[in-house]
Amino acid sequence: VFDLAGKKVWVAGHRGMVGGAIVRRLASEGCEVLVSSRKDVDLRRQEEVEAWLEKNRPDAIFVAAAKVGGIFANNSYPAEFLYDNLILEANIVHAAHKVGVKKLLFLGSSCIYPKFADQPIVEEALLTGALEPTNEWYAIAKIAGIKLCQAYRKQYGCDFISAMPTNLYGPGDNFDLNSSHVVPALLRKAHDAKEAGASSITVWGTGTPRREFLHVDDCADACVHLMKVYSDDVHVNVGSGTDITILELTGLICEVVGFSGDIVHDLSKPDGTPRKLMSADRLRALGWAPSISLRDGLADAYKAFLGGNYAERV
Ligand code: GDP
Repeated sequence: VFDLAGKKVWVAGHRGMVGGAIVRRLASEGCEVLVSSRKDVDLRRQEEVEAWLEKNRPDAIFVAAAKVGGIFANNSYPAEFLYDNLILEANIVHAAHKVGVKKLLFLGSSCIYPKFADQPIVEEALLTGALEPTNEWYAIAKIAGIKLCQAYRKQYGCDFISAMPTNLYGPGDNFDLNSSHVVPALLRKAHDAKEAGASSITVWGTGTPRREFLHVDDCADACVHLMKVYSDDVHVNVGSGTDITILELTGLICEVVGFSGDIVHDLSKPDGTPRKLMSADRLRALGWAPSISLRDGLADAYKAFLGGNYAERV
């Protein structure tokens, strides 16, 4: 077991939803948490990343920094989604090896898997088929991140591991309708419609795609667990193990928000991949299970939104 107590732990990307949740979670681990702002270190600049790590010398790193966004943002900014993610993960992994970081956890996403992978998707499905075109830029970068961790383990014996979370939501989420994922988008649409006394909200696509969701605090808890107990080159899925349709999600969100109008479909918007449920077996076997139900988690996310704890970015 890799004990975090007394260690220096760098959370790269602490301003993001996941990084922020990991920082909150680490408060009870008795470690020293390091964070960096873009003014201290631009993660896309190799010399800056190397200098920062040489100076601060963490024992462990959570790589939660990434250029992220929903289906529309991915489609609109392919260059940034590929380049920024590739360069920052390569910089961090290589520099971590150079300064002798003992443990590193790289965070990816469930979009690394083939579009038509058998469901629930097991870790071994990686690179067995073509990707979903709407997010392949991000996916290719994240697959490269997994491979970087594997390569540095294989060649240099670095204890670098990877976790692939499912669709996450919660405090600190991005509520900008053009770049957000479906949960914050629908929370916002339902909220705005309720406030305006509108009769309907618009849902993108057919509503039939199925997705799995996990509250970001559950994800952070799973990442800390993996950092302690896992040392292997196979990446680990981090999910709830159950999925629902976008239409069912919309119903739940309308209940949580208290909006009771109609649901209109915008069929000019893409559905994306038809189903994306990951197998949770490997993580369960490692002794972890989620503790926040979707309904409670959505209520918490809505509370955070009402409290102004969210980002709007493209
Ligand atoms: P994905 O999981 O990578 O496809 O990313 P998203 O979270 O952006 O979208 C998930 C599903 O929700 C897709 O089928 C979208 O078409 C659907 N969806 C429905 N309404 C919305 C919306 O207002 N915003 C977003 N981002 N997705 C929506």
